[in-house]
Amino acid sequence: MYDSHVDTPSQLMRLRNIGIDNPYAHVDFPKLRRGGIDGSFFALYTPAQMAPDAATRYALQMISAVYDAVDENPDYAALAFSPSEAARNKSEGLISVFMGMENASPIQESLSLLRTFYRLGVSYVTLTHNGDNAVADSAAEGRKWGGLSPFGKQVVAEMNALGMMIDLSHASDKTFWDCIALSKAPVVATHSCCRSLCGHRRNLTDEMLQALGEKDGYVGINFYPAFLSDRFAASAEDAALMDEAERVEAAFILDPANRKKAEAWERMQDRLNEIWRPGVKEIVDHIDHAVHLAGLEHVGIGSDFDGIPVTPRGLEDASKMACLWKEMRLRGYREKEIELVSGGNLMAVFDRVIKCSELNG
Ligand SMILES: [Zn+2]
Repeated sequence: MYDSHVDTPSQLMRLRNIGIDNPYAHVDFPKLRRGGIDGSFFALYTPAQMAPDAATRYALQMISAVYDAVDENPDYAALAFSPSEAARNKSEGLISVFMGMENASPIQESLSLLRTFYRLGVSYVTLTHNGDNAVADSAAEGRKWGGLSPFGKQVVAEMNALGMMIDLSHASDKTFWDCIALSKAPVVATHSCCRSLCGHRRNLTDEMLQALGEKDGYVGINFYPAFLSDRFAASAEDAALMDEAERVEAAFILDPANRKKAEAWERMQDRLNEIWRPGVKEIVDHIDHAVHLAGLEHVGIGSDFDGIPVTPRGLEDASKMACLWKEMRLRGYREKEIELVSGGNLMAVFDRVIKCSELNG
């Protein structure tokens, strides 16, 4: 099983040890092993408000933290820069840690910085987070460029040439369609849901899902309750909890060694888990819908674990992943089909992106 998006590097920066089972972690090596997960893409996330120089520095620090976490756990994990390396790691009983960059701002306006991050092992770039940047417009704003910037067009061409995946989760609709038109390689949405099932602005419309399939691309279904269910979004709003949660988490992020702030954040997570949450069935509803529109070979899992303040009922962390396959079996998916959705498709699209770069190189 391969997961196209987890925010574990942010947790490493909050001083989490992922070599041990931590009750508030969605992802750590013991849980990945129990969940039968062969590899995950660790997202190097930088907030939109961070200035570019600071973002570059922070991304490098996160890469260093990922390398250290893997070095400290040689019996659990190894880095992977490609599907073939992941297959080798698996044959040696090791979990693969891939890296993706979430928000292109650490590359600033420099293709050489993009190439440097690629050489360090970054396999995809999520072009934006919740803010327009030098590369493209975000779903949360979408005002700066009307899609890709002129520099963003160069980034797309360079990523095609390198064999890096272009990730359109968080992108504005216009950025999405610009990349569909411009990219020579398949494109991906590593952690997104379906807008016709839940109206969040950063979910994918039916036309987008169809286009991802036609482009031979990939969508990884996100587990965040607010992207899965309008009912959750409405009840969280009623409880006015999400704003408070954001404040408590932000205070902890700024001061991760402060035990009091860490505990306040843990108590907030317990409170969030008390409101109604969508569960495994709703996730599989999104899988079904995406399979229907994009095609079975273009859908996977991009949990967003460790990046979401609240998790679905019954799927509170990575160790519980098997309940998805159980629900898919109940709905009539065959084992071979479950293998594709649970990671086969993700490795296949990464292979296609690499092959495309070789063909055009
Ligand atoms: Zn994200």
